[in-house]
Amino acid sequence: MMAGMKFLSGKRSIFKVMGLICKKCALAIMVLALIAPFIATTQIILGDSKSDLEDAKKQQEDVQSKLEETKKYIEDLQGQVSDIQSYISSLDSQMETISSSLYELDLQVQDLEATIKTTEEELAKAEEDAKVQYEQMKLRIKFMYEHNDETYLGMLLNAEDMADLLSKAEYINQLSKYDREMLEKYKATIDYIAQTKADLEADKEELVNMQTNLQDQMSALSLLQSTKMTQLTNLNNTVAAEESYYSRLEAENEALEATTRQLEARIKAEEAAKSSVTSYDGGKFKWPTTSTRITSDYGDTDGRSAPHKGIDIGAVKVGVAGDPIYAAYDGKVVISTYSASAGNYIMIYHGDGLYTRYLHCSSLLVSVGDYVTKGQKIGLMGTTGNSTGVHLHFDVRLNGSYVSPWNYLSK
Ligand SMILES: [Zn+2]
Repeated sequence: MMAGMKFLSGKRSIFKVMGLICKKCALAIMVLALIAPFIATTQIILGDSKSDLEDAKKQQEDVQSKLEETKKYIEDLQGQVSDIQSYISSLDSQMETISSSLYELDLQVQDLEATIKTTEEELAKAEEDAKVQYEQMKLRIKFMYEHNDETYLGMLLNAEDMADLLSKAEYINQLSKYDREMLEKYKATIDYIAQTKADLEADKEELVNMQTNLQDQMSALSLLQSTKMTQLTNLNNTVAAEESYYSRLEAENEALEATTRQLEARIKAEEAAKSSVTSYDGGKFKWPTTSTRITSDYGDTDGRSAPHKGIDIGAVKVGVAGDPIYAAYDGKVVISTYSASAGNYIMIYHGDGLYTRYLHCSSLLVSVGDYVTKGQKIGLMGTTGNSTGVHLHFDVRLNGSYVSPWNYLSK
């Protein structure tokens, strides 16, 4: 090992490295260590996490503005719902009023009909009485004039009706005062009853018109009400849909919040690593396992949607997990965790924006924050995560992009 790694902080690590190197190199390291912070500030080594965080924050802003919009929309809809509800209840009370008016009108019409019936009976009775009186009177007149003037008799007997007779009777002095009075009285009674009947019928017609009018109003109101009920149902459905959309947005917001926190933690970890591991001296990597059987090389496109970002190395015995995995170079462990795609995996920072990653391990032997040296056993080969067989996926990232591991190592 030539110069190895330089760690700006952590005396333990400095001594550990210095113990392995010559004094000349140590001096160079000390000088580099002094200027390293200035170099470090200009380096972009956290490209992925930072842009992921920015993306997550942008997405979260978007979701939050959607949440706000949706909330306002729901409030607006709820306002509409309560407007329609109060409108429906005002329609209800109008309909109730009309209903009771209709009921009262119905009673009045029934009363009137009964009165009209009574009046008709009275009229029939009066007409009958008048007729009897008229017949008796005619008999008396006939008897009176049989021995008298034939002209008057003919005139009277040929009268069209009682009214005609009364007007003709004007000329008949001989007609008895009694008969005249009786006739006039009957005529007056008939006229009065007929007028009463006509008045009652007019009243009834008026009531029936009122009834029809109210019934028309009632059906108009009930049509309006059913329209409003449909609107209300539709609105309530929209409200329910918007509310479930709102819950989905809330869940999304929470998920993004968690992602943001994770990314922030990762950035913090990476920055912590950056501040303690600052430069890579350009030394060769160690082959990261015992087997050299490459199952898929860097840049491989066979059966892939994008070129392979690393090198896949199969186990010494095909399908048997547990081969050792070695740190390719000195550095600091920045990730040692499980993910659905990478399985158990480790990421080591070597300084100057250079990282190595070791995926699909059966077990992890180092933790975040650990300093490791080239060739140190850090995990065991496995097939965790998105993997179809026991292998190590080894890749190299420089300044946020994957680069060919062959730039740093040979078999
Ligand atoms: Zn791979």
